[in-house]
Amino acid sequence: MPQIHPLPRRRSLARLLFRVDLQRMIVALAVAAAGVLLANGFYSSYLVQRQVLIDTTLKANHAYAAKLAEAAQNFIEEAQQQLAYSAGIVARDFDNENLLLDEAERLRLQTHSFNSVAIVDAGAIVRATSPEALQIKGRYLRSLAAREALDQRRPLVSQPYMAITGNMLVVISQPVFTADGRYLGYIGGTIYLRERNILNVLLGTHHYDDGSYLYVADQGRALLYHPDPARIGEVVSGNPVIEAAITGVSGSGEVVNSRGVAMLAGYAPVPATGWGVVAQRPLAVTLAPLEGLMWRVAANSAPAAVVTLVAIWWFARAISRPLGQLAEGARQMDAPGTADRIQRVRSWYVEARQIKRAMLIGIGLLQARIGRLDRDARTDPLTGLINRRGMDDVLELWRAEARPFAAIAVDIDHFKQVNDSWGHEVGDAVLRRVGLILRQTARDTDLVCRTGGEEFLLLLPGLSSAAAVAVAERLRKAVARERIDPAGHVTVSAGVAVLPEDATDIGAALRLADEMLYEAKRAGRNRVVAAGSPRLHG
Ligand code: GH3
Ligand code: MG
Ligand code: MG
Repeated sequence: MPQIHPLPRRRSLARLLFRVDLQRMIVALAVAAAGVLLANGFYSSYLVQRQVLIDTTLKANHAYAAKLAEAAQNFIEEAQQQLAYSAGIVARDFDNENLLLDEAERLRLQTHSFNSVAIVDAGAIVRATSPEALQIKGRYLRSLAAREALDQRRPLVSQPYMAITGNMLVVISQPVFTADGRYLGYIGGTIYLRERNILNVLLGTHHYDDGSYLYVADQGRALLYHPDPARIGEVVSGNPVIEAAITGVSGSGEVVNSRGVAMLAGYAPVPATGWGVVAQRPLAVTLAPLEGLMWRVAANSAPAAVVTLVAIWWFARAISRPLGQLAEGARQMDAPGTADRIQRVRSWYVEARQIKRAMLIGIGLLQARIGRLDRDARTDPLTGLINRRGMDDVLELWRAEARPFAAIAVDIDHFKQVNDSWGHEVGDAVLRRVGLILRQTARDTDLVCRTGGEEFLLLLPGLSSAAAVAVAERLRKAVARERIDPAGHVTVSAGVAVLPEDATDIGAALRLADEMLYEAKRAGRNRVVAAGSPRLHG
């Protein structure tokens, strides 16, 4: 069973982040933010466009359904008036068969409202028809529409039903009363729903390529009008749009049709009959332009997005560059020239400026400290003269330059006695004083070192042996002259050697100067001995 070690993974992530610099991070962050904003804008634009398309279609379909419902309402009212007028005419002479025939014929042909007209007496016997070819004259009608008309004796619009002639139809009827109120029967105009009829003409047999269509249902949810003639007469239950329209509500909404297609429907009632008119269009058809619209949105926002990204990249670089340069400087704070490089960093914003200033101050302090340490390391604390290490550094340089110089080795005579008689502190004071005298006697270009306890070495560039001896004499006399309380007077002995006259290299020259000093001590002290002419002086 392999074990899971989350730790190394985290470490590698940390290592990865460690390598990511500020610029990449800013760019990544900004690009991510811009991406999220763009996607969000794109998506909300999509939602808005989609809703606009849907709303527009719903509104249009509602307006269309309402207009057609109004047309249907007007037609029914007009048809009832025409039938009522004819009822008045036939009531005057109901037994006159020719009159009934003429009136039925006139009504059908003059108004174009009905596919056929029938005049039925109170006993449900057909008394006249137009066209006569129907051949139902004299027959007894059993249909529900006839029953209803005879029972209720008032203006009616029947439900759709299959007639004895084999037609799917609705009957619009008016009762026939004599002037003194005797009921004679009714006059009915029929509309053949599956044939060319006034409803088709009214509602328009529009055939849209895009799948939009219109249908009409009656109170009993039976289809009176539908682009598919086979469905006329079919009862549709559970359709919320039909339910709303036949209860007298006008509006719009999304529905799924009987074939499972999402539709945007507008609906309106026909108050005279309780019918509902529905105009609808497939949702998919409505949303078809959306893709094109979104491509246009994308195309329109692309230039701004590109400009934004370039600007982000440019700014990220501008922001991170001074920090990167400062960080590079921080890596090598002690290197020479770092202060200059940091000084040149263009810190154009507050934080970079503050870091830059802090770093410059830090570098200043650091280099001052390094300088001090450096100087301390090369200086003798008691006399303030250069120590042996400092002297070695300078000689290193002179060796490289092959510089000629004279060396004067100096040692205080019987210094042990000063210490013994006056104590160590007085001895120190004497050392300081002798160091000072040496320094004052030498030129600025000369090097004065304290090389040991009470031993000194002077290095005089470019001096000849004679000139060096003269300097040595001068300082010997200066020391001897000086009264150093409480020790009184001290003397020094000195040995002189000159490069390249007396020796071939620096080491030999210094050894020679030491030997000459030893000679001076042997010769009785308080004197100068030069390599070229020992025991000549003093
Ligand atoms: P000579 O004339 O042969 O040079 O005799 P000297 O007594 O000067 O020589 P020696 O080398 O015997 O003695 C040097 C003394 O210097 C020994 C030591 O106590 C003393 N000395 C060395 N360094 C210091 C120092 O820093 N301070 C003091 N007060 N004395 C020191
Ligand atoms: Mg001594
Ligand atoms: Mg000594």
